Amino acid sequence: MSEPTAQPLAEPLVQAQAEVAELLSELIRIDSTNTGDTATSAGERKAAEWVAGKLDEVGISSQIFESERGRASLVARIPGADRSRPALLVHGHLDVVPADPAEWSVHPFAGEERDGYIWGRGAVDMKDMDCMVLALVRDWARTGVQPPRDIVLAFLADEEAGGRLGATYMVDEHPELFEGCTEAISEVGGFSITVRDDLRLYLVQTAEKGMGWMRLTVGGRPGHGSFVHDDNAVTRLAEAVARIGTHRFPLTLTPPMRQFLAAVEDAYGIEIDPAEPELALARLGSLSRMIGAALRNTANPTMLQAGYKANVVPGTASATVDGRFLYGQEEEFERQLDALMGEGVQREWLVHNQAVETTFDGPLVDQMVAALKAEDDGARPVPFTMSGGTDAKSFERLGMRCFGFSPLRLPPELDFASLFHGIDERVPVESLQFGIRVLDRFLRSA
Ligand SMILES: [Zn+2]
Repeated sequence: MSEPTAQPLAEPLVQAQAEVAELLSELIRIDSTNTGDTATSAGERKAAEWVAGKLDEVGISSQIFESERGRASLVARIPGADRSRPALLVHGHLDVVPADPAEWSVHPFAGEERDGYIWGRGAVDMKDMDCMVLALVRDWARTGVQPPRDIVLAFLADEEAGGRLGATYMVDEHPELFEGCTEAISEVGGFSITVRDDLRLYLVQTAEKGMGWMRLTVGGRPGHGSFVHDDNAVTRLAEAVARIGTHRFPLTLTPPMRQFLAAVEDAYGIEIDPAEPELALARLGSLSRMIGAALRNTANPTMLQAGYKANVVPGTASATVDGRFLYGQEEEFERQLDALMGEGVQREWLVHNQAVETTFDGPLVDQMVAALKAEDDGARPVPFTMSGGTDAKSFERLGMRCFGFSPLRLPPELDFASLFHGIDERVPVESLQFGIRVLDRFLRSA
């Protein structure tokens, strides 16, 4: 873009910090709800085109790819100063989960700014990171900043339904776009938990559990509901479901969670009972439900299907269970499930993908730590394992080390964990500005 008169170069990041809130409002207004069904998921194409327009304004070219009609992902590459170095992938998803306006204090797709926050679906998952990155690279382009290594930007469809039409599609069909990328950053991590005024833990995701969504099916003898019946599929399925749903899987401390618990002990000056670490995690409030789930394999029954009439015993009954296993626990998890299911219960995977884990060390991690500490002298970065799954699983297949690093310094009173897929999802504008400054330091030194 040419200016009518010669302007002095902008102060670093002034424009990025000034425009990030408006960018986020605009992107939230593009309703990119992922219903899990292409026929009713319309907004990703519009969102990708909006991103392309914002990049184009500052001379960054990008490409949009569709896996199915409207299921659009965008990729751009910003050349680094040293092209012999491996590239870094910065990815975010453009889709959001549904939101019911009747439940919200503001309309979830109005992108309203109120009380210093941007409100709306996607404000923390993860249009916030999308817009921090966008604001930063626009600022760089305007002020002539070149990162040290190639940065590949990917704004992806379909993360909220498992990524098949977004990250998985891009990795399978267009792996050349990610050529040379050895590391990646995205959600979920980089946010703060306040321990006290001068100490905040910043949780960096270095691992995520694998996903095993399964259908359990039991066959039995069909018959009249009024008769004596000792081979009832519904009863046998219910027993298996109850055993699984009430089972507490054994405690399994993976390296990131060992480091995380040690950091919690140190920060709070407490001793954690190694046999019952969940007790101590209660200090983390609602985050403890997310983080506590990374101490064990888990399996939660979520759906039941059987029967069609009150007086007919059906010949089959089935249930859906959301299983999650820790890194290195895949086979053990199957063994545990088989033991719980009992005789005559069939199991099939509906979705099955791998757990991922990397170590919290190396130059990239050093730069994350340094960038956080430079912007917050009370920052103490710690690794953790995410209980849910993200697009990192797809990029890990290309050999990348994946980190959840979307830096946000959060006010101590904000119940951040509840905002993910939650009602009144919102993010402080100051946190976005902090994130931009951290990302700038990090990406300029990474
Ligand atoms: Zn997300």
